[in-house]
Amino acid sequence: TAQRSNDQLTQWDHDHFFHPSTHLGQFARREVGNRIVQTAEGVHITDREGRSSLDAFAGLYCVNVGYGRPEIAEAIAEQARELAYYHSYVGHGTEASIALSRMIAERAPEGLNHVYYGMSGSDANETNIKLVWYYNNILGRPEKKKIISRWRGYHGSGLMTGSLTGLELFHKKFDLPLSQVIHTEAPYYFRREDRALSEAAFSAECAEKLEALIQREGPDTIAAFIGEPVLGTGGIVPPPEGYWDAIQKVLRKHDILLIADEVVTGFGRLGTMMGSDHYGLKPDLITIAKGLTSAYAPLSGSIVSDRMWEVLERGTDEFGAIGHGWTYSAHPIGAAAGVANLKLLDSLDLVSNAGEVGGYLNRAMAEALGDHANVGEIRGEGMLCAVELVKDRDDRVFFEAADKVAPRIVAKMLDLGVIARAMPQGDIIGFAPPFSLTHAQAEEVVAATKAAVADVL
Ligand code: PLP
Repeated sequence: TAQRSNDQLTQWDHDHFFHPSTHLGQFARREVGNRIVQTAEGVHITDREGRSSLDAFAGLYCVNVGYGRPEIAEAIAEQARELAYYHSYVGHGTEASIALSRMIAERAPEGLNHVYYGMSGSDANETNIKLVWYYNNILGRPEKKKIISRWRGYHGSGLMTGSLTGLELFHKKFDLPLSQVIHTEAPYYFRREDRALSEAAFSAECAEKLEALIQREGPDTIAAFIGEPVLGTGGIVPPPEGYWDAIQKVLRKHDILLIADEVVTGFGRLGTMMGSDHYGLKPDLITIAKGLTSAYAPLSGSIVSDRMWEVLERGTDEFGAIGHGWTYSAHPIGAAAGVANLKLLDSLDLVSNAGEVGGYLNRAMAEALGDHANVGEIRGEGMLCAVELVKDRDDRVFFEAADKVAPRIVAKMLDLGVIARAMPQGDIIGFAPPFSLTHAQAEEVVAATKAAVADVL
């Protein structure tokens, strides 16, 4: 393909490629896109025109070990040669998928020991909801089915997962959310109405709102609560102090299952192996995807607790095999990539590096931009960082949607050789670099952000 001219490829791109999450009119007018990525190494991607950029968003916060790792490429090639595919239905397995299951169970919180595999974070969450419903049906409580998620949560783009997602863009004109889903308050301390509230008091308020919602709907109708340990696509928002403790107390009281969506936080992004470890979550199900293979191959999983497993097993004794499977569940190539990826995380100590250099990135960003009149908040955890922009810092006035500045700052940063993400809702620049980021590269990211902010504002 390298022989083809860029003009030819661009023409075909416009004629035939329906890009996800893309404004089709802007793409047609060549206002977005127009970048054909060719190679990548470390934290840099290079396009066909030879332009190299430091990818401070690790693709879509997924290339956690960095690009161009020969250990993973070789594991994939070897698996493809030896056994490219066999299914995992009716108890079949491969060495890679079994070994990976063991590695995941060893890294998951205590009491979560069973992995159901999919291909994407979205389908893993679809699986989770089906397992929750199956579980409650087996327990003889068919009315306990509603799922609570948070506004600003992101859980995928399927019918159910798009519904769970609490971002308007993902509902608009798709007739979502579905009726089984209800949303509750986002733990977004910066945007709280009462400025005088402490973090702990705000967390208590979030828990009270959850309790009120459950009472309104009827506790016997609520099956599960799903949340990301740190809100990701909704704006990179770490929870305020005491949030998860307060929420889990309410859930336990009403026998509501907790699904921790760790698609972004799983396998090290917060500087701990799982986000659940970081915040003391005791989930019944954990969603994993991105960091499981560092996106070298598509693979996701639902980690199921022993408590749920025992009920599911009982269910199949009564009702027969679980009627839920994907052709590509536990795809051997994905599993081989997963094994090699998790080994690299360990051998290069990348989880510690995510915590250490991520902390440095957050501190350096705060130092460079914390006092800027248009910066409302700089927040993050581990290798996640966000800069939220405001029109007026003192009165906390936001720019109108049409005048958002983050997309312009991010475009300027790209000119300066650094990729950040204008988050889809709000006026927020997001950073989620590979864990292999060095201190010097973190400084480069901060310098580009500072220069772009100075240019645009
Ligand atoms: N859950 C979370 C927390 C995510 O951030 C994402 C993707 O960004 C998903 C689920 C969906 O994953 P996928 O895009 O692989 O379907």
